Amino acid sequence: MARSTGPVCKQCRREGEKLFLKGERCYTSKCALERRAYPPGQHGHEQQYRRKRPSAYGLQLRGKQKVRRIYGVLEKQFRRYYKEALRRKGITGTNLLVVLESRLDNVVYRLGFATSRAQARQLVNHGHIDVNGRRCDIPSALLKPGDVVSIHPTSRQLTYFKSMGESLGASAVPTWLAFDPVDMTARIVDYPTREEIDLSVNEQLVVEYYSRR
Ligand code: SF4
Repeated sequence: MARSTGPVCKQCRREGEKLFLKGERCYTSKCALERRAYPPGQHGHEQQYRRKRPSAYGLQLRGKQKVRRIYGVLEKQFRRYYKEALRRKGITGTNLLVVLESRLDNVVYRLGFATSRAQARQLVNHGHIDVNGRRCDIPSALLKPGDVVSIHPTSRQLTYFKSMGESLGASAVPTWLAFDPVDMTARIVDYPTREEIDLSVNEQLVVEYYSRR
């Protein structure tokens, strides 16, 4: 599946806040938003001085783009996820986040195997991840309760995974994932609730954005 290949930090600068797309770098002074906290582009610097009140459409667009960029999904696929969220029972905005959270690359990131979703996507692409005991190299694969995610047996010997050892499990793994850091295996207990999705986004803006067209 296609992915965004453009400059990553520009996405944060466009949204005006840290989206944590680059792993450890985001926590250092090298973060582009720390150094250039204004929108990208030739006139980006001027925009911060003549900021006008955004229209309702502007707010919805920015809200939608923020969620899309956090998960590293392109527009076409994101719209497909929205349709899937509409189809499911319950609150559409929450459903959308649940669908995005169930992506394999996101689960790999949430388990702490990678420091960013982009890195997690690469681990999946390179065949290091198994789902239910079989290699799965599709980052967008949607997982469901009962699915088991693990590191491929041959990949466990790699320094990258070996060196993880103790740090695994130290970071907070969401409660909807039953993670065994020793075995490097996790089971999807259930779909996450909105409270379990640790993201400061307004998913209602996404729903409003797509509802108007
Ligand atoms: Fe965003 Fe991270 Fe780049 Fe900072 S370093 S601008 S948080 S992607």
